[in-house]
Amino acid sequence: MFAVWRHRPIIMSSIIVLSLVSPDTRYAAWSRGSVRAAPKTASSKCDRSKFKLILDVGHTAEAPGARSARNIPEFDFNLRLAKRIEDKLKLEGFAQTRLLMTEGPKRPSLFKRAAAINNSGADLALSIHHDSVPDSFLEEWEFEGTKSHFSDRFSGYSLFVSHDNPKFWTSLRFARLLGNRMKAQGLQYARQYAQAVMGRYRRKLLDKKVGVYRYDQLIVLARTRVPAVLFEAGSIINRDEELAMQTPERQDMIVTSVVGAVEEFCASR
Ligand SMILES: [Zn+2]
Repeated sequence: MFAVWRHRPIIMSSIIVLSLVSPDTRYAAWSRGSVRAAPKTASSKCDRSKFKLILDVGHTAEAPGARSARNIPEFDFNLRLAKRIEDKLKLEGFAQTRLLMTEGPKRPSLFKRAAAINNSGADLALSIHHDSVPDSFLEEWEFEGTKSHFSDRFSGYSLFVSHDNPKFWTSLRFARLLGNRMKAQGLQYARQYAQAVMGRYRRKLLDKKVGVYRYDQLIVLARTRVPAVLFEAGSIINRDEELAMQTPERQDMIVTSVVGAVEEFCASR
């Protein structure tokens, strides 16, 4: 949520949108993949081979988002986790899962990704991020001889949906499914977004059981016309959680949660 040290909320402004939509956004066109479709189970109405999911990799190589407590760019975390989710979904028969990677500076890239999602005809867009904190919460420490920043005050995943997305209720439904799965894995959501201490970053908590917040202005949610959810998978500015997020065990818990939620969402449409 906090893109850089000098973070600003990723919100819409009066920027002209169309001029920023350029063809260098890299996303694969839907195609018949070589991955076999898993057979439908008796209890599922989901046709996995037809479900179109876009996994949006948050930020870009050039504007990599937050910096972890150990100085790893958020983009690296986002890309690794998104790839793991993509691999598992394809293995499970969701052959039309696509990674969306965008290039360039932050603000134009946000409009590019929204345009790419809209052009894709996707059934669902899930934007993958890792969380940090506002600058005022940062504390200093030294990691491997480098002055670094951390905050161990908050941890957890969180989910965001925008009321400006025309598929708000469907987006909320998927966010809840994913939050339920995360909770079932024993993972806690980040409570601070509902607290006054967050100031202008405070959000309305829509589901207090599983951690879904309303964040209307996020471009990747507000400018998309398909159901869209932004997922902060965990905090990388929290020193313990950063280490946890790098373990295959934690990544598997998250991947399992996403795959389960996608299956449930697909079956319930
Ligand atoms: Zn981010």
